[in-house]
Amino acid sequence: MKKILITRKLIKDSEDKASKIFNPIFNTNDELYSQSKVIDMSRGCDGILTSLTDKMDKGTISKLPDTIKIISNFAVGFGNIDLNAAKEKGIAVTNTPDVLSDATAEIGILLILGACRRASEGIQSAKDGGWKWSADYLIGKQLTGTRLGVLGMGRIGQKIARIAKSLGMVIHYHNRSKLSEDKENGATYHDNIKSLFSVSDVLSICCPATKETENMINKETVEYFPKGAVITNVARGDIVDDDALIDALNRRKIYAAGLDVYKNEPNLNPGYLKIKSAFILPHLGSATKDTRIAMANLAIDNIDEFFNTGSCVNKVN
Ligand code: NAP
Repeated sequence: MKKILITRKLIKDSEDKASKIFNPIFNTNDELYSQSKVIDMSRGCDGILTSLTDKMDKGTISKLPDTIKIISNFAVGFGNIDLNAAKEKGIAVTNTPDVLSDATAEIGILLILGACRRASEGIQSAKDGGWKWSADYLIGKQLTGTRLGVLGMGRIGQKIARIAKSLGMVIHYHNRSKLSEDKENGATYHDNIKSLFSVSDVLSICCPATKETENMINKETVEYFPKGAVITNVARGDIVDDDALIDALNRRKIYAAGLDVYKNEPNLNPGYLKIKSAFILPHLGSATKDTRIAMANLAIDNIDEFFNTGSCVNKVN
């Protein structure tokens, strides 16, 4: 049986599954391992099942024992792993696509609704008490007829677009490549972000964090939006330059933000906490029981497939 280090505690069903297939090392206290602890604990192991909280950078990967042949990431995003460093060391990296798209799209829609309809202020007022209904009390932005820009119209972006369309939003998107008509489902393609942002009353960021997308929302690009636009991010915090977004929110250039992900999680930029129109969540995208089990099971199956066949359909390097 292959010996696998599993860096974070999984839901019991998934740990039971792992025990049937491998000789697993579990993290029973769900301690956040340091990089050096991951290196130490992986001695004698054949693979590691990592989470997005594990920073598998070049330095860490280079010190892993030569017995490690696979890093199976418990996430669709793999910005926490240096893919080239893994490839150079002969380590396959896999991810868990598709199984989390529905749950993450739900949170993507929640961010749009929460930011546009002033949910943070509403919740605070309801808790504080003493609020009075009036015709102009906590007036928000209605989605019907509003233009939604999707930055990264992939698995999650397309699901968000479909739900948003059913709410009456008009969909625009940017990817590096144009989709087939079938996948576009009536959305309008923009071949650059300036063109997309300029028609986005609301933006939903759904692309991966890469060198190309890092700080794509910045001091310059925030000016491309119509005044009073809403920016939401269900993808990764690295795509947004926080200072630029916070400044735009304070100036009311940007009306509201809906955020599930941040740079340096969980230590988000404190500027967001002072902004009433920021609707912020603690990285809940895939957080439903069914989805977390499906993700962990897929991460386990990826390892099994790799050792049985020498490759894996979800290999990303
Ligand atoms: P996906 O199917 O691979 O879609 C990504 C989309 O982004 C593709 O359409 C891709 O199109 C586009 N893209 C990639 N690089 C781009 C660039 N430089 N400029 C513009 N568009 C670019 O991925 P997914 O499954 O939808 O997941 C998307 C991301 O969501 C993940 O990478 C992950 O970071 C994040 N996520 C977050 C949560 C959460 O808990 N909040 C949960 C799941 C996923 P082209 O290749 O044509 O450019």
